[in-house]
Order: sequence, then C-alpha cells, then structure tokens
Amino acid sequence: MNDDTVFALASGAGRAAIAIVRISGPDSAAVLTAMCGTLPFPRRAVVRALRDAEGELLDRAMVLWLPGPKSYTGEDSAELHVHAGRAVIDAVADRLAGLGLRPAEPGEFTRRAFLNGKLDLVSAEAVHDLVAAETDAQRRQALRQLEGALGDLYRDWSDRLRGALARQEALIDFPDEDLPPEVEADLLASVHSLRGEIGAHLDDRHRGEKIREGLCFAITGAPNVGKSSLINALAQRDVAIVSATPGTTRDAIETRIVLGGVPITLVDTAGLRDTTDPIEAEGVRRARSRAASADLVLTVIEAGSPFDAGGLVVANKSDLYPEQRPDVLPVSALTGAGLPELLARLAAEAIALTQSGGPPPLTRARHRTALSAAARWLADAEDAIEPELRGEAMRLALRAIGTITGQVGVEDILDSIFRQFCIGK
Ligand code: GDP
Repeated sequence: MNDDTVFALASGAGRAAIAIVRISGPDSAAVLTAMCGTLPFPRRAVVRALRDAEGELLDRAMVLWLPGPKSYTGEDSAELHVHAGRAVIDAVADRLAGLGLRPAEPGEFTRRAFLNGKLDLVSAEAVHDLVAAETDAQRRQALRQLEGALGDLYRDWSDRLRGALARQEALIDFPDEDLPPEVEADLLASVHSLRGEIGAHLDDRHRGEKIREGLCFAITGAPNVGKSSLINALAQRDVAIVSATPGTTRDAIETRIVLGGVPITLVDTAGLRDTTDPIEAEGVRRARSRAASADLVLTVIEAGSPFDAGGLVVANKSDLYPEQRPDVLPVSALTGAGLPELLARLAAEAIALTQSGGPPPLTRARHRTALSAAARWLADAEDAIEPELRGEAMRLALRAIGTITGQVGVEDILDSIFRQFCIGK
C-alpha cells in the first residue's frame, strides 16, 4: 500500500554536529545508488560521498542501507548521517525530492511500521511517549509499553474473550447437540473475571495517565503568607510575583517542577479571599477550580497562626517563629529552612500517586474509552438471557479491546494517533 518512498529529517532542529535523514520505501535502494554510486553492504555503517544529479559533492556522510523487512518500518530504508548545517540538509532534501521522494508526514515512519506489522498501536503510541519523555518515570513507563507489557495485557484479554465467544457461538449454532452443561457456566465465569480485571485496570486512579501528563499540586492559603515566595523557592526561579501588598498575585500562577520522576504543575492559588476587584476575583475563581481538581492541596499558613485546614499544611516564615506545632511542616521560603524536607514529602506524594509495582497501568484516554466500552458490553453479556444477545455483546466488547492494539477496524483513528508524532518518527 506504500508504493511511494518518503524522507524526513529524523534529528532535531537547532545547532548540532550531525543530522540524520531517514528514507523509507521501495525506491530506497535506487536513491542510495544514485546518490552514493553503489549500494552499501546491508546494516553496516559506511562513509560515502553524496552527490547531486550533476555529480557535484553535496557532503561526505555516514550511510546505512537497511533493507526490509528487517528495518524499523519493515520496508527498504536508509539513513544518511550528514553534517548538520542548514545548507547541507536543504541540499540533501532537494536531491531526494529531485529523485522523486516526498517529505514524510508526522509519524509516517511509525505508521508504516504499524501497517507492516512491526509493532502494534500500543507500542506505536509508546514510541511517541518515549520521544516526548521528559522525566525518568515517563521514560520507564514508555519503554515498558514499547517493550510490549501493556499490549500483551490487552492481547491476553482479547484472546480469552475470543475463546469465550467461540464457546458462546457453539451454544448458539448447536443448541440441540449435547454440549457439556459446564460450557455455559465456564464462559460466563470467563466473562465475569475479564470484566473484573478490566474494571480493576480502569480503577487505577489514573496513575499511568498522570505519569504521562503530570500531576497538579495546588498551593492555597491566605494572602501574604508567602505562597509565591514558596513556589519560587521550590522551583528555584522567580516565577511568581512576590509582593508585600495582599492580593497582588492576581492570576493562578503555574510552574512545572519534576519530583520523583513525575512532572508536577504547582499552581499558586491567588490569595483566596473575597474581593471586589473583577480581575482579582477571576484569579480567585480559577484558583478555586484548579485547587478543586488538584491531585494534592498544600495549605500554606503563617507559622504561629491558628488554622483549620486538613491535609498537608506548611507553616511558612518559620524564621520568625521558633515555636512550631507538631502537625505542620515548618519552612522558611526566606532562609530555605525546611525546604529539603518539604521537597522530599512532595516527591513521596508524587510517587504514591503515580507508581505501583503491579501490572502496567493504563496510559491514555483512548485506551480508557475503549476499555470502559468493553466493560459495559461485558456487563451486558453477563445480564443477557438470549444467547444471541450475549454473543453480540461479547463481540462488541472484543471489538472495543481490539481497537486499542489495532487488531480491528482502526483505519479511522490512525490519523488522529499519528498526527501527534513529530516528523521523522
Ligand atoms: P503570597 O501572597 O502568599 O503569595 O505571599 P508572598 O510570597 O508574596 O510573600 C508575602 C510577604 O512575606 C513578602 O514580603 C515576603 O518577602 C514575605 N515572606 C515570604 N516568605 C517568608 C519567610 O519565610 N520568612 C519571612 N520572614 N518572610 C517571608
């Protein structure tokens, strides 16, 4: 289905020593031969002169000839490791276009790999996550998914459901044969346990999705207790405006930090007090809504003041108050006292909210939607009295799970998945 050959810059933009131009498709061999004279030995790095149509030298590059099907895309492919100057890259791209190649779409290499059966959709999505990974927890989760842990889980569910469906169909097709009486009970037990496992997987407090997307920690407290100063101290840069006038932090101010390998957005919930200033009131409204959906609320008080907050309470300005209550975490944004303890506590919370030693967690909304649908169909199957209706519900559940790994009818969702990729991947 891919009779055109594509190319793309697979390395990043910006100053670098080497740029990698990737080529995939049936004309790869002809293009390499045209540019470097002869086809290099497969899968071995060689240095070749790359030439334009007139034979003029474009660059001297390391070249890889990667014949299919043992390539990333499964097609004949090649890589040109050229000097990363803009003019070199442009000249090589012009030459490839002149030879009839077209620039690849975002994610097209991985899409071709999927269409050629080199990886399933869950692994393809993991490639995207690995390329985008900014923290260690994201990298580990993406790699685990790329290595197949999550795909295997979903395929195991598909296989078991397919087995149960086969037995259900036997009951429908041969109602008068003497099928052993336990067939129906067995298949219902399979459906029941599958529904339980899928339910448990769905009910994971969004751990995997939070590793991918990050957590939100809201910082609340009365004006002037030092919330902005504390965020600045935690983020070690001046992100919030610190002022001695109450109510100056007008908007919800966000800053990203990484703790325990998890990206965390700290939201400063502008002095939560009733106000007549419309701009400040909007800040307060947003802050309240962020705080309401936050994964953790950190209440900042001024050390020495009474409070009635629950959860994690941080008493700031500990430098002014030597006496501390035992139920608060004393810190001083000014001197830095107590900050290491606070950071350690926040990291522990981030890890508790995201990580678990069990099976791989669900990682994206697309999978969640499909699995929720599957769980509903399985519940329908359990409730169905008519064998035909039960069979149909099981078929629909199987189909929903199959869309996750790409085993069934996914043509319509491929665009939305691969569009998020970068070009060259
Ligand atoms: P916010 O309104 O809660 O965001 O408070 P700010 O961060 O703007 O701080 C209010 C005032 O308290 C500023 O004058 C800060 O310099 C001061 N402040 C903040 N943290 C500390 C601290 O740990 N010790 C002392 N002594 N002053 C602080």
